[in-house]
Amino acid sequence: MVKVLLKKFIIGFGLLRSIRWLQRKLRGPGITVIYGHRVISDEDFANPANHSRIAGHTCVSDLSNAIALLLEHGYKIISIDEAVQQFAKGEIKQDSVVLTFDDGFEDNLTNLLPILKKYDVPATCYINSSVIGTNKSLWFQSILNYFFSLDSKRVFVKLNSKEYDISTPKRTFRSAFRFTRYLQAEYPPEEFNRLIEEETNKKCLPSDKDKHLSWDDLETLKNEPLITLGAHSFNHYPLAMCDNSLAEFEILESIRQLENKLDIKIDHFSYPRGHVEDFNDFHKQVLSSAGISSAVSTIRGVNRLNVDMYSIKRVGLPANTLEDKYDFMWHVAGAPQLLSKLKNKVRAKF
Ligand SMILES: [Zn+2]
Repeated sequence: MVKVLLKKFIIGFGLLRSIRWLQRKLRGPGITVIYGHRVISDEDFANPANHSRIAGHTCVSDLSNAIALLLEHGYKIISIDEAVQQFAKGEIKQDSVVLTFDDGFEDNLTNLLPILKKYDVPATCYINSSVIGTNKSLWFQSILNYFFSLDSKRVFVKLNSKEYDISTPKRTFRSAFRFTRYLQAEYPPEEFNRLIEEETNKKCLPSDKDKHLSWDDLETLKNEPLITLGAHSFNHYPLAMCDNSLAEFEILESIRQLENKLDIKIDHFSYPRGHVEDFNDFHKQVLSSAGISSAVSTIRGVNRLNVDMYSIKRVGLPANTLEDKYDFMWHVAGAPQLLSKLKNKVRAKF
């Protein structure tokens, strides 16, 4: 609470602008890549039991608020291609933001695109090609679909002989998350889809509102000048959990399918999950050999001229921009990283 009030005070009195000024003087302007997944309707967001809302996805009016806030604070919203060009030239023109959306949900077309058009700002959508043109969800989303489809207070999972609490929407979400962690800890990724289908007896399909984009939708998006399409792996398996040949397949197959079906060149990639432990030099090498020019992670921070093009940092979009506005702008400015650097310098001196 004190932290939030402090941030409110700091931002309210323009000190955040001073931090950004200091960063620019010391290290030059930066490019902050922001990531989200779904953009749900305001109506769905108003329902506290909606599982996408519980999972922290943003909604139409919140994304609009976030874009308006970024523009108000003087950020230029640029495409991933423009960012890559600026990094390559060694010349970042001004503090900028790149908007990115992972996992390829249908609402990227129905809800995200109209907002981009309203503000005339670009975004990149990273796609997992295995679910495109099917009526399936990605493996972790299938677990969520299953747990939320049940009309009871507890569910017995045969695979680990465990009973999970699904008595409230929040508990259901936590239980689905715990089962996801169990699966990752005990089984190789190539078994995830089969095990989930066996366990859930096909009750893991998405509702009409939770679908992924179709190939026709992607055909529409590829012709939109504000949209860049990138790859996000075939099945969304954490790459570091795959052996090298599966990881290579996961990367290359998503690129190959998108390029062949849509007749476009894919230049950008987003690592599934994207934490520091989720990708390594082998994956970077595969991407570079496939002609990919940038890969984004979920390591937090602002990118400056010394950026590793296969480990671009990103900042998450908050679910409720107005409530989390100070925290959001704090992260967009890279203030936490600057402060921890200063703290370490002070510690080293004393
Ligand atoms: Zn993802």
